[in-house]
Amino acid sequence: MFGRVPKKSDNTKFYEVLGVPKSASQDELKKAYKKAAIKNHPDKGGDPEKFKELAHAYEVLSDPEKREIYDQYGEDALKEGMGGGGSSHNPFDIFESFFGGGAFGGGGSSRGRRQKRGEDVVHALKVSLEELYNGTTKKLSLSRNAICSKCKGKGSKSGASSRCYGCQGTGMKITTRQIGLGMIQQMQHVCPECRGSGEMISDRDRCPQCKGNKVTQEKKVLEVHIEKGMRDGQKITFEGQADEAPDTITGDIVFVLEQKKHPKFDRRFGDELYVDHKLSLTEALCGFQFALTHLDGRQLLIKSNPGEVVKPGQYKAINDEGMPHHQRPFMKGKLVIQFHVIFPESGVFSPEQCRKIESVLPMRPSKHLTDMELDDCEETTLHDVSAEEVKRRKEQRQHRHREAYDEDDDDDESAPRVQCAQQ
Ligand SMILES: [Zn+2]
Ligand SMILES: [Zn+2]
Repeated sequence: MFGRVPKKSDNTKFYEVLGVPKSASQDELKKAYKKAAIKNHPDKGGDPEKFKELAHAYEVLSDPEKREIYDQYGEDALKEGMGGGGSSHNPFDIFESFFGGGAFGGGGSSRGRRQKRGEDVVHALKVSLEELYNGTTKKLSLSRNAICSKCKGKGSKSGASSRCYGCQGTGMKITTRQIGLGMIQQMQHVCPECRGSGEMISDRDRCPQCKGNKVTQEKKVLEVHIEKGMRDGQKITFEGQADEAPDTITGDIVFVLEQKKHPKFDRRFGDELYVDHKLSLTEALCGFQFALTHLDGRQLLIKSNPGEVVKPGQYKAINDEGMPHHQRPFMKGKLVIQFHVIFPESGVFSPEQCRKIESVLPMRPSKHLTDMELDDCEETTLHDVSAEEVKRRKEQRQHRHREAYDEDDDDDESAPRVQCAQQ
């Protein structure tokens, strides 16, 4: 309450990743990891990054020694203590230590599991609000690597290949260099001769179609169905359609919808549509009607009820004219109209007109000041302050408030203290 909160080293992230409290027992950690790992397994369409994160968090917290270091000093301390890198085991190995090879039954043999999974290809797909309202299909042409049809991904005519001499078939090369007296640094990198495949194909035997690359470029047209009511940020996945590579489970092509800003309508709270409409003062006081063109081109007649007065900033809604609900497109949200009243400019009314207007408007609330009361008053001048200026000041104040909340806390406390004194 008085000083500021000291900056903590980050030692909560791993618990948050697994969704357990810091006091979690080994058993609870195990359960939480199992549940989350199944849900996020890349073979089940989960996010590989998340899967890796889970494995790493579990690996640290399940080891009492590492957990203690982490709890006290955070993740960075672990990295220092473990000679760089800070782990890490293959996340699939950690997963398999729980479930064995056939986690998902059937085809999940441990050999299949060893296959690496190709990367997902993620594209942003810009869509208009009209397209999300009406639904549409977009044809997109993409090029990708496909397993060579001639050699079936072998890279050679005969199907034979020999071990790469450069790396002895491991695909990796280790180089060592001396970095100081008696200190040697080892570095591992992909073998440049076989580009990591570990095998060599002789020039004569090379497949003429893919030139030994095992894959060829392929043009592909994807039809992306944008269903009614889909949302900004929603993903449309084409499973196993990303780049193909030998001995690799093909990743997915994922389109992430990105809604373009609409000049008129604003989608909020899921299925609600917001639109601004300006009314003249006369319309606000005496009634209005106008046609609103909807996202599907229909004209909606919007009108006030007899005798209705609309106030500046007032909202009114029409049921079932908002965005369709995804998967239940026959259900729609609300269409909400916010009315803005345009007042006449200063000086447009003559004193004569003012008297006429006043004669029909409600009576003034204030009584006339007497001459004596007027004598007691000081003269002042009103000048304009823009709404933007007030907003900017308010933001500045809030900013300061966040920075120095401890001082303000003291202010807040002064109120109850006075109350106590009065009792
Ligand atoms: Zn080929
Ligand atoms: Zn090699």
